[in-house]
Amino acid sequence: MRHLLLKYIPLVLLFVLVVFLLISPNTEENIPTSADVRTDTSDTTTEPSETEPPTPKKRVALTFDDGPAYDSNSFQRLTYKLVDKLAEYDGAATFFLVGNRINSVTGEAIRYASEHGCEIGIHAYTHDYNFSACDYGIFTSELKDTEAAIEKYSGKEVTLFRPPYGAITDSRAVDSGYPIILWNLDSEDWRYKSRSNGTEAQKNIEIIADNILSKVEDGDIILMHEIYQNSYEAACIVIDTLSAQGYEFVTVSELLGEENLKIGKTYYNAPQNQIAD
Ligand SMILES: [Zn+2]
Repeated sequence: MRHLLLKYIPLVLLFVLVVFLLISPNTEENIPTSADVRTDTSDTTTEPSETEPPTPKKRVALTFDDGPAYDSNSFQRLTYKLVDKLAEYDGAATFFLVGNRINSVTGEAIRYASEHGCEIGIHAYTHDYNFSACDYGIFTSELKDTEAAIEKYSGKEVTLFRPPYGAITDSRAVDSGYPIILWNLDSEDWRYKSRSNGTEAQKNIEIIADNILSKVEDGDIILMHEIYQNSYEAACIVIDTLSAQGYEFVTVSELLGEENLKIGKTYYNAPQNQIAD
């Protein structure tokens, strides 16, 4: 019996060898080679290495003080025109208003701006006082009266405050009940409001636009004024030019993030770590 088993061992080994040789070519065919891998992926159009990462949009907040541009004739409906210009690019601005310029006529401009995504904040009621030095009672009533006048037409709760000249004490900033929104890029448009002749007006418009375009960066809060024709025309140049450079025009709350705004704290622009989202 033992002798018989020993006799068959070479046959069994031979059988195993034959089976292995028959199977092994198939196994090799099933293993994809590196050439096969390259061929497979080159057929697809979404190869990761060829996809450009999406470029994050640059954003600025254009802000306009001292409105509403209250006389529809002498101010040529500047509020409406600014809102319409920004709407060409799905953009919006933030307006800081003077309460005693709000009436049933200018109120409609506020309503129009608000309905088109613009943000309306408090500037002052009379623009006659420095809020860091005036009587405390005047300070609080200027705020309260402007807040009421804006909300009557905007249909939204006011959430921002920019004191005239950026002047306010730390304790009054807290007492205001609002975040204080200042700016980091000043167009100095009020210096170049003269339109005494056409050539001068055109030169002034170009200076205002250049004051912004030569310095602008992602996250800036840009200071302009709503009530000058030159400011409006410069804003149109700025909006067209920056849009072509990939900028978006957002409200202050969008730029800074509503959830980041704290009562009494002062903001100048969007910190770099808040810009990319
Ligand atoms: Zn002002």
